[in-house]
Amino acid sequence: MKRVLLLGGVTEALALARRLGPQHLYSLAGVGRVPTDLTCQVRVGGFGGAQGLEHFIREQAIDLVLDATHPYAAQISQNAAIAAQSASIECWALRRPAWQAGPNDDWREVSDWAELITALAPFQHPLFTLGREPLQHLDEIPDHQFWTLRALDAYPGNDRCEIIGARGPFLLDDERALFARRKIDVLISKNSGSTATEPKLEVARELGVPVLVLKRPVLAKVDREFLQVGELIEALSLAGFL
Ligand code: NAP
Repeated sequence: MKRVLLLGGVTEALALARRLGPQHLYSLAGVGRVPTDLTCQVRVGGFGGAQGLEHFIREQAIDLVLDATHPYAAQISQNAAIAAQSASIECWALRRPAWQAGPNDDWREVSDWAELITALAPFQHPLFTLGREPLQHLDEIPDHQFWTLRALDAYPGNDRCEIIGARGPFLLDDERALFARRKIDVLISKNSGSTATEPKLEVARELGVPVLVLKRPVLAKVDREFLQVGELIEALSLAGFL
């Protein structure tokens, strides 16, 4: 029986995991919720780099690695491609298309934290939706800025920063209310391409608020790439995995 190792961490990966039978494995890093209602096996935690993953693939007699991780999770994607190649099996990936700026959007791409801070200087009330990274910089908030930071879990803030713990999907009206309450004048976002987190971009567009977009990392080359989960399910079925 052919066996898939599905690397997850995003909504589409869970949708895919729900289609997998009991011989298959769904792997999570352990930062988000772990589903308890799946037919396939679920494992949580790192493998110990590309080498550890290769060892795991051989030990568990995996036939195919499916990388359905977040577009900014570049390390595990690279490890998956290297480990699959070393173990002489294929690696397929679900690569979510990026959001595209429309004519009424003011998006400014930044490559890293240093560029982001420079681009942020003219603003007073940024909303960070990058995950936990800004937490390391709470002592560096310039005098003229008051930050709002949204991450998966709540953390203590300070008098210059409110930290909101929240998980998508986010509703348009709630995003509008957040922008109004915190007087947001700039949004900082990854380009995740997820519909669950897209409403914040619509609010920025409505209000004419600029968006600083953290550039997507370049991901490792794999044997096959899919943009939609449906296409991937079809290919798995054709190849006899489902
Ligand atoms: P990363 O930098 O690419 O990976 C860091 C390490 O976490 C990997 O080297 C690996 O540890 C472990 N890891 C990551 N995904 C794993 C998986 N599915 N199963 C087992 N181990 C995994 O990833 P990240 O950006 O920290 O993201 C961690 C997880 O959260 C990913 O699964 C990703 O899909 C999900 N996520 C990330 C973001 C984001 O913005 N980055 C957003 C939403 C969800 P070892 O080297 O020890 O194997």
